Amino acid sequence: MYDFLIIGGGIVGMSTAMQLLGRFPDKKVVVLEKESGPAHHQTGHNSGVIHAGVYYTPGSLKAKFCLEGNRNTKEFCQENGIRYDECGKLLVATNALEMERMKALWERTEANGLERYWLSADELREREPNITGIGGIFVPSSGIVNYKEVTEAMARRFVEAGGEVRYSTEVTALYESASEVRAHTSSGEVEARYLISCSGLMADRVVSMLGLEPEFRICPFRGEYYLLPAEHNQIVNHLIYPIPDPSMPFLGVHLTRMIDGTVTVGPNAVLAWKREGYNKTDISLKDSIETLAYPGIRKVLQKNLKPGLIELKNSLFKGGYLKEVQKYCPSLTKADLTPYPAGVRAQAVSRDGKLVDDFLFVKTARTINVCNAPSPAATSALPIGRYIIAEASAQFDLA
Ligand SMILES: Cc1cc2nc3c(=O)[nH]c(=O)nc-3n(C[C@H](O)[C@H](O)[C@H](O)COP(=O)(O)OP(=O)(O)OC[C@H]3O[C@@H](n4cnc5c(N)ncnc54)[C@H](O)[C@@H]3O)c2cc1C
Repeated sequence: MYDFLIIGGGIVGMSTAMQLLGRFPDKKVVVLEKESGPAHHQTGHNSGVIHAGVYYTPGSLKAKFCLEGNRNTKEFCQENGIRYDECGKLLVATNALEMERMKALWERTEANGLERYWLSADELREREPNITGIGGIFVPSSGIVNYKEVTEAMARRFVEAGGEVRYSTEVTALYESASEVRAHTSSGEVEARYLISCSGLMADRVVSMLGLEPEFRICPFRGEYYLLPAEHNQIVNHLIYPIPDPSMPFLGVHLTRMIDGTVTVGPNAVLAWKREGYNKTDISLKDSIETLAYPGIRKVLQKNLKPGLIELKNSLFKGGYLKEVQKYCPSLTKADLTPYPAGVRAQAVSRDGKLVDDFLFVKTARTINVCNAPSPAATSALPIGRYIIAEASAQFDLA
């Protein structure tokens, strides 16, 4: 019997597994991952930004873990020979409304303890000749990395410390008793004293397997990108972000320098008809029915009908998408937007129709389940793992 069974070989599962063995080297720990390798889902389909922590509610887990995670991720990269670039981020205001919103973000960055600089239109142009705006905020600690490489290194360290990873092993049912947790998997049964679930887009389904009625559902939002042609690889010197509507901070496509030297535009946010569907035409009847049958998700869609329809239109017609980025980078044309793989975000939605804002954990006597870990959870994966281990140490009998 294992001491710990961890579901999920994304960055949150691997970070937790690696740190768990660091803290309890004698424990038997196994990671079960349904795909053939690590980071096949959110962790392998994201913008690769090491966030600084600009937007998050002061005092929230997101704000705290992002700030710590920014430092921890860079340290982990240095220790493990992983390329990263502290290229900094520029938030750009293009009109008076955005300028007002930028002032509010300035206050928030102060409350979140970030180093940042206010830029005039001239200072902005000096830093970014191809970007147009009436002012900006420069955040030097933002960076870029390939999170798949980070996760692979975590998996390697975990295995070197004596951990076991079973790929191509899907957990299909769970039974929690007074003394153990039993998992039925696609390749046999696995027993452990304790379970930690880091199952991303499947978080609600895993909680249901434990016999709980989750207080939330995962709503999958596709994030679609375009890649700029190689001649634009130098078009920006930093990560360029628009000023978001504070009620929907994850909307607004950004220009992202990737660690391989390319530049992407994106991501947008449209409802996905398949949880792990990366193509526009991917549809799962089961996933779609489950999404639309949940009252909370229907409420979110109703409340955000207008921005939702604009996102959908921009997803279907490149012209609309282009206009979003031309607001601050007017030289780009339709021909500059070339195909790039999409990602799907796992966003928890509560029954009363709210997007769950903070990281969310659901616990039972023998389990800890990560139930909402959207962005910046890749940046925050090391502090999230530390938090889970602290919770496990307090709650479980690990003597
Ligand atoms: C488009 C997009 C852009 C983003 N950009 C950024 C960014 O720039 N910076 C940032 O910090 N964050 C970003 N994020 C968020 C970040 O990618 C995620 O928060 C993070 O990767 C979550 O990691 P995870 O391990 O929880 O989930 P995942 O990476 O999705 O891993 C979950 C794993 O669980 C496995 N699994 C699920 N169910 C089972 C089962 N029953 N049995 C076995 N295995 C199972 C899955 O196969 C999967 O591998 C972005 C996300 C998206 C989608």
